[in-house]
Amino acid sequence: MKTDNTPMFVHSARPNLAVERIAAILEVEWGISGSLVDVGGDRDQNLVVTTAAGTSYLLKIGQPDETHGVLDMQLAALRHAAHQDPGLGIPPVIPKCNGEYLHALPADAGGRWLLRVFGYVAGKPIGTGPRPPALLREIGSTMARLDRALAGFFHPDAGHELLWDIRQIPALRPCALDIVDGGQRDRILRILDEFTETVLPRLGGLRSQVIHADATFENILMAGDPPAITGVIDFGDVMHGPLVQELAVAMADTTSGLDMPWQAACEVAAGFDERLPLEGEEPALLWDLARARLALTVSVLASRAAHRAEGAGSMESDMIAYQDQLDAFDAVGRNRAFLELRRTLRLPEPVTVGGSDTETETARLVARRDERLMPGLALFYPEAPFHAVRGEGMWLFDADGTPHLDCYNNVPHVGHCHPHVSNAVARQTRALNTNTRYVYDSVLEYADRLAERCPGELSSVMFVNSGSEANDLAWRMARTWSGHGGALVTAGAYHGVTEAIGALSPYDAGEDFHHPHVARITPPAGDGRGADEYAADIDRAIDELTSAGYGIAATMIDSTLASDGILDAPAGWLETLFARVRAAGGLCIADEVQAGFGRLGTEWGFEALGAIPDIVTLGKPAANGYPLGAVVTTPAIMKMFAERTDFFSTFGGNPVACNAGLAVLDVLDRDGLRAAAAEVGGYLKERLSALGTRYEAIGEVRGRGLFLGVEVVTDRGSREPAPEATARVALAMRRAGVLVGIEGPHANVLKIRPPLVCERTHADVLVGALDRALRPG
Ligand code: PMP
Repeated sequence: MKTDNTPMFVHSARPNLAVERIAAILEVEWGISGSLVDVGGDRDQNLVVTTAAGTSYLLKIGQPDETHGVLDMQLAALRHAAHQDPGLGIPPVIPKCNGEYLHALPADAGGRWLLRVFGYVAGKPIGTGPRPPALLREIGSTMARLDRALAGFFHPDAGHELLWDIRQIPALRPCALDIVDGGQRDRILRILDEFTETVLPRLGGLRSQVIHADATFENILMAGDPPAITGVIDFGDVMHGPLVQELAVAMADTTSGLDMPWQAACEVAAGFDERLPLEGEEPALLWDLARARLALTVSVLASRAAHRAEGAGSMESDMIAYQDQLDAFDAVGRNRAFLELRRTLRLPEPVTVGGSDTETETARLVARRDERLMPGLALFYPEAPFHAVRGEGMWLFDADGTPHLDCYNNVPHVGHCHPHVSNAVARQTRALNTNTRYVYDSVLEYADRLAERCPGELSSVMFVNSGSEANDLAWRMARTWSGHGGALVTAGAYHGVTEAIGALSPYDAGEDFHHPHVARITPPAGDGRGADEYAADIDRAIDELTSAGYGIAATMIDSTLASDGILDAPAGWLETLFARVRAAGGLCIADEVQAGFGRLGTEWGFEALGAIPDIVTLGKPAANGYPLGAVVTTPAIMKMFAERTDFFSTFGGNPVACNAGLAVLDVLDRDGLRAAAAEVGGYLKERLSALGTRYEAIGEVRGRGLFLGVEVVTDRGSREPAPEATARVALAMRRAGVLVGIEGPHANVLKIRPPLVCERTHADVLVGALDRALRPG
């Protein structure tokens, strides 16, 4: 019954059948008799039926031009949801005696009325009284639960056009012209137009399904003290649409009248999100969607008030309430609203487009960092700190959304935020996370997979949470096994942060190194000297420790020799070292925290160096960023250690870490990343070496696979280290969008260690950026 060019029942009056007539139909068609009370409604005539036995029903009569298909869809949706989740508290649809759900009655003005009967749901509408946060979250949670129940529902009429669908805003814009107050009218029109232009086009890309679409304070029922949700009623707006619209409606229409409605709305969102996590753009659109819902409601009410014969009536006060709600949302504003939502839902930091604003925000974070964290905690690029907000594959995005090619980070081993790993972590955190004092399969599957990848007898595994812890445990094992206390490490070695391992990390100590139980050996310089030429130095170190009474417990070697400057050890060097350490009664520990999992083109770095250790330590890349460390050793060493200690790590080997680790191995194997590291690494080294012939500032290009070092010097003849030039080049590359690190005892080696998903095209980008950074002027 359209009264002008405004669509979709905006102005239609509700049916008004005589109660006696309905009672008679109810008795004949449904076999239900009782007293009937007309309880009003927006578009429908609603009557509560109470039988003599005290059972209540709701009888609904819709508009005469409602289509049979749409009503059939609504009732089918109700039945579907009730079947999927019987505890939801949605009204049961009561069939007629003949099994049908709808009864057609010729309408006075042509067409027909369609009658349907529902069972009664206990509780009263949540209304606009006090709504504690727990109730607000339950509202969101209930709507999410309903949507989960509706997720698989299909009906050809679910795509019908609906008055209250936010996507109808362009068609309903004329309604806003009926707003009497000129200022208010302009403001509502602005909101509607802005929505049409900037938000509406984005909705088409969001996940959609059949939704209830009308979670108002009248349609959600509660009971008890403290109140709990008992059900959801009124399926008259059921439609197919963006899932997030369900939540936006609930946020707008269940929080009015509260002190801080947006904060309350965020609680509703939190409840929804816990049951049905928001995705992609959905959270960022919620404020706009909720506001659009309110603006649309104000427009429709104004238009009804202007056109209905009976006048504005109670619509006036409703309209004021919705306008107040809109004022409250507007007072918060889009940015603060999103921040509030982010905090409540614990959403990750978003990309915020807006040059100078993000710079200020980054500076603020740096200042807060200095104040709150360890002062002077090292920061990459202190002149231009990198504010990272998102990672994907080879790319790190800054707060402005600018992608940077990440040629530095080896922790995201199979690429930043690899979906296979992220999904494994997310799913396992939802299922179970506990410790190895319980029995579960992932820790064993992961240990098996690690053992399979290790040569010889390296097949017993213990889990910890970092490279440092793995080295600490390995060192304890070696001391326990050997009964000795001395260690051999390279002069520039770094192995971690614990007190014991700090002593085995002379990398930045220089003359201040005072750990008599640790002997520093000369790292192999890759200067043409053969392995034998290092033997004397190794013997010297062993003698030193033996004569000081420590004896040899172990040598610990990082197979990349990273902090020594990323050096190319001559063939046989590691074998020589290991043989002499074993002869002195010590164990050989390969610190594979940097080199492991295929980075050098072989599964383990020690394989590339041609020697097999007694203990392997793993960390950094193992779980693509989820903390996970491991020690792999021989069954004999593990058994001995178990007998003499009572070692346990609370987080070590937890199911989430193990699933993350397993997912990394899946990707490594499936995508052949070890072979790719050898291939792309070889190509990159060739290109960097070619660049080296063109610039005096490049001394050597070293390393293998995807762990390369470019030595920066004053001139190739003297090979005098040039740390300032190195820092300048790294900063210039960062400004050009390529991230590399700085390494070595003289801080003059560019450290190139990208995720293993690095391809030749990425290598080309890196080489191009380095070329430009080295160019004079
Ligand atoms: N060993 C080596 C070779 C490393 O490079 C590092 C970290 N840079 C560690 C051990 C310590 O690992 P974490 O920081 O995870 O404790």
